[in-house]
Amino acid sequence: MEDTLKILVVDDDKVDRMAVRCALAKAGIQMELSELADGNDAFSILSTTAYDCVFFGYRLLDRDRLTLIQQLRSSDIKVPLVVLTGQEDEPTAVKLLKAGATDYLFKSRISPENLAQVLRSAIRVYRAEMQAALAKDQLRESHEQLIRKNQELERQQQQLQMQNLKLSEASMLKLHFLATMSHELRTPMNAIIGFSQILLRPKLSQLTHQQADMIERILNNGKHLLMLINEVLDFSKLEVGRLDLKAERFDVSKVTNLAVSEMRSLAESKNLSLLVQIDLQNSLIYNDPVRIKQILINLLSNAIKFTESGEIWVEVKELPVNRVAIIVRDTGIGIAARDFKHIFEGFRQVDQTLTRKYPGTGLGLAIIDSLVRMMGGKIFLESKLGVGSMFKIELPRQIILSSVGADVPLKVDDKMVFSSSQNSHHSSYEVRQASIISPKFKL
Ligand code: ADP
Repeated sequence: MEDTLKILVVDDDKVDRMAVRCALAKAGIQMELSELADGNDAFSILSTTAYDCVFFGYRLLDRDRLTLIQQLRSSDIKVPLVVLTGQEDEPTAVKLLKAGATDYLFKSRISPENLAQVLRSAIRVYRAEMQAALAKDQLRESHEQLIRKNQELERQQQQLQMQNLKLSEASMLKLHFLATMSHELRTPMNAIIGFSQILLRPKLSQLTHQQADMIERILNNGKHLLMLINEVLDFSKLEVGRLDLKAERFDVSKVTNLAVSEMRSLAESKNLSLLVQIDLQNSLIYNDPVRIKQILINLLSNAIKFTESGEIWVEVKELPVNRVAIIVRDTGIGIAARDFKHIFEGFRQVDQTLTRKYPGTGLGLAIIDSLVRMMGGKIFLESKLGVGSMFKIELPRQIILSSVGADVPLKVDDKMVFSSSQNSHHSSYEVRQASIISPKFKL
């Protein structure tokens, strides 16, 4: 305590006050000491002047001084209070401490050393108490801030929930609209296709070459439009969970060859080789053949659409744990890693501009993604810009119709892998082992 301390001694006994003053001086305390004979003046003096410590002379049964200590403590006056009591009994000391005294010393023990020690420890204790009180205040303040922030967060969460609700209502309306519109459009479209086909029948052919050419265009455009309408209908049904798989046991190699033969002329029109390799000991699987073919057609038409030269490979092979893989590989324009996730979302294309080179709805991969998820399978994509792409679909040999998956990226490495689903259902269906010789690389 190097600084000069401001000390107040309150005692009606002049001799006792002098004893305190002398003891403190002897102890070498650098101080500015004031004295008061009447305790009643203490309150007003302490309200106007700041002291580092107050010594209170206290006699037994002096009710007024006990009240004074309590009043000081409950007021704004912050100061260490040391009581000097003439009575050497512990209960009195406890009573004083409870009233708010910082420390006490029996008058019989007043000596320079004892007084200096009590003074130092009272100031130290008092400062520690002040710091603790300050920390408590800060803690209470930050607790209150936390409560306020929590309330604000809860309010924002409620707002978000409301917005989410509105968004999902709007989304449901949009899907409902898409489903209704595409359903309604299919009927006239089928009529256009049907009548065009009738008109083109050779028996009815009283058409000029130019008329036949025009009707053929109507037919082709009608078919293309119907395909687009069907994509929108499938997508909206899948989004609201209203598309059912019609599972049966079928030969996946046959369905693969059928899809490939349907797409062959398109590949040939672009001078692309279309290679097939089916490597299965048992080509019977339990799944929805229409949807498997749809997946293959979608992947193949993308491969053809996005490849200018080179080859397209289709591979079907066995995988461990009763699964099969369908792989479509191309030497096309490739996909940048940053677009991997987006292209599986509905209406998303790498080139979103209106002047884009490649036509399409951007629904094909979203539909494949949902279908594969329903089948309890996974999609893997590997691609490199300017080199080509590989879409690999892993499926259980037997699907469980209630299979539901979740969007989980499996692993992202320097290649690029995106998985649409992780599903570990085990089927209760049994597929008979049949040995079918798989065609190897049919051209
Ligand atoms: P669409 O083909 O109708 O645009 P898809 O959902 O089938 O819609 O594909 C989404 C996007 O993914 C495509 O627009 C294209 O940018 C990219 N894509 C899909 N398949 C390939 C592929 N084989 N090669 C390059 N890009 C592809």
